Amino acid sequence: MSKVVLKGVEKIYPNGFKAVHGIDLEIKDGEFMVFVGPSGCAKSTTLRMIAGLEEISGGTIFIGESIVNNIAPKDRGIAMVFQNYALYPHMTVYDNMAFSLKMRKTPKSIIEKKVREAAKILDIENLLDRKPKQLSGGQRQRVAVGRAIVRDPEVFLFDEPLSNLDAKLRVHMRVQLSQLHKKLKTTMIYVTHDQVEAMTMGDRICVMNLGKIMQVDTPLNLYHYP
Ligand code: ADP
Ligand code: ADP
Repeated sequence: MSKVVLKGVEKIYPNGFKAVHGIDLEIKDGEFMVFVGPSGCAKSTTLRMIAGLEEISGGTIFIGESIVNNIAPKDRGIAMVFQNYALYPHMTVYDNMAFSLKMRKTPKSIIEKKVREAAKILDIENLLDRKPKQLSGGQRQRVAVGRAIVRDPEVFLFDEPLSNLDAKLRVHMRVQLSQLHKKLKTTMIYVTHDQVEAMTMGDRICVMNLGKIMQVDTPLNLYHYP
């Protein structure tokens, strides 16, 4: 678990567009924080800056006690789950999940243990030999989460992970991801444009608009009108 702190974080894209306007935010150890807001409000840009996939133009990002502004994504203690899952099509589920550990020269026995543990948590133990194209959308989504879990990240980053699923599966996966958070107790930062998702999943919700933070509060305080 690690807290994530943004201080005066800015993003100006190379074309001169200022996407993020000096935002401040403190996400607590073990918190499930949801970024919500309309398309284009800079949820994804902010998440990608935390991940280190997008350079920051100003300000400071802390993960745990460390300033990570100049730390490579793989050394930030984070794992990200993308909207399109980004699975390797020619690899089996097992190899997809094992890949990042292999790259780090993790011993084979430890890789196997971690992949099997993650597969168990996600209930995909019977799918390990399949290729991504032999999976349903929901199963692919779970493999993508599994790939993140095996890395034992301090912080999980989710970029609209459910938006490619049909409505019924979306509801199901919401519950599953909330249970995963309860089980792992890690810090999770979750981007969505779906208010219901935000409301049902977040410990707190960060409402963004036009590259600024409008409000940060619990679902109850944000959506409960007396
Ligand atoms: P969201 O995730 O909330 O939909 P994004 O973070 O993707 O929003 O985008 C925020 C704003 O930054 C949008 O106005 C988008 O068009 C702009 N933007 C995103 N990427 C780039 C880029 N590479 N160059 C210029 N502008 C960009
Ligand atoms: P997402 O909604 O997952 O962020 P997008 O289709 O908005 O996906 O963006 C896909 C890619 O295009 C991202 O890498 C983003 O940075 C880039 N991008 C988005 N908006 C712009 C823009 N206005 N100008 C240039 N690149 C952009």
